[in-house]
Amino acid sequence: MIDQILDYNHHFVQAKGYEKFITDKYPDKKLAVLSCMDTRLTELLPAALGLKNGDAKIIKNAGGLVISPFDSAMRSIIVAVYELGVQEIMVVAHSNCGACHMSYSHFYKEMTARGISDETLNVIRKCGIDLNTWLEGFRDTPESVRKTVEVIRTHPLIPQDIVVRGFIIDSETGALTEVKG
Ligand code: ZN
Repeated sequence: MIDQILDYNHHFVQAKGYEKFITDKYPDKKLAVLSCMDTRLTELLPAALGLKNGDAKIIKNAGGLVISPFDSAMRSIIVAVYELGVQEIMVVAHSNCGACHMSYSHFYKEMTARGISDETLNVIRKCGIDLNTWLEGFRDTPESVRKTVEVIRTHPLIPQDIVVRGFIIDSETGALTEVKG
């Protein structure tokens, strides 16, 4: 698949397919969106929010979560605020998210079947990583959105004037529903 992508890329550049996407690194709408990596949202999310290239910083991970105050998602948000002029942040979870019902027991079965040893898992645990929590789903989507919004809003490095709001997007229609605090 990657080789096919490389072929496509060659033609894309040759045909100057990039011209309509040219912009700079500063988000025109001064907006950051934290959302899920789900493939249903790849085009739907920006289309449903009316975002085009150059409009917003879009940060994605499994579930659209900040799982700890100094994780990679939070780091990206801080960069977006201080380096890129972002003033408003949308946390956008979605319906039927795969990260909702994840459980460590499932990962454990899959990992051991793929050759990961109990010894490796024990070494990771000894390093202080709680795999049960780290790979566990969030069950209640609105509650999870509230939690992520709260972590961002009350973060010691986020200025008071930054607006943070939470939403759930319908994975099919793109309809946004706000999650109130
Ligand atoms: Zn998802």
